Amino acid sequence: MPGNRMRSRTFCCKIRSVKKSEMDTGNTIVVDDAGGGNVLGGLVVGAWKGREFRSEVLGPEWCGDEAVFQPVIASVVLGLVRNWEPAEKVVLCRTRLFDRAARDLSRCGYVVRRARINGVPQRRTEEAFFHHLLALGLPDYLRRFLPGNEIPKEKSYRRLNESCAGLLLADPRRLSLAKGKCRTVERIRNARIQRVRFTGRIRGRRRFCVECGRTVDRGGWRVTGAGRRVYVHAECASFREEAL
Ligand SMILES: [Zn+2]
Repeated sequence: MPGNRMRSRTFCCKIRSVKKSEMDTGNTIVVDDAGGGNVLGGLVVGAWKGREFRSEVLGPEWCGDEAVFQPVIASVVLGLVRNWEPAEKVVLCRTRLFDRAARDLSRCGYVVRRARINGVPQRRTEEAFFHHLLALGLPDYLRRFLPGNEIPKEKSYRRLNESCAGLLLADPRRLSLAKGKCRTVERIRNARIQRVRFTGRIRGRRRFCVECGRTVDRGGWRVTGAGRRVYVHAECASFREEAL
């Protein structure tokens, strides 16, 4: 019946969340990404099949021009899928970054579906991204921003991004870990950074050291630039003088 066909077509176009039963089948690979929106670090592509997880990290140097980035992501996804037989179906996160991967996988004969990824594959991919940040030498306290049950996901990533921008301001050598074509990064790169050593207590709300995540309660450095201000304990600072 034409009516049924139309309904069915509408249903196919709708993006749904991936079901648990679908993830558990041995020939389906669920692919998600994490970290693409964060100023520091690269992008993690995570893949889940049956009960096993694998991931690949794309360094921040790749994260800029989407015309370059999409084919790189596609080759990473294809590599993960091809090395993990048997696989017939691939459920890809709906982010535009996977558009090229979706096309290439279809051309290679895989059944591809786009969906909102949640549950274990999403969690494991996010964890892999946080491991990647720590492996880059970023402070351990960033773990607290791993999206959990208490903090909504958007808020976690917003706080992580704010801390990473602060870390960039506190030590511009971290620009080598920053994503290209990112407005925040460019603003910090071009900013006039001021460092002021202060003693005594900070009035007003509690301030945290961007290097260690602990409260700054008795003196330290105040670093400003690019419309941002961060605090650093004297013992945590990577610099010793005010002028940059
Ligand atoms: Zn500190």
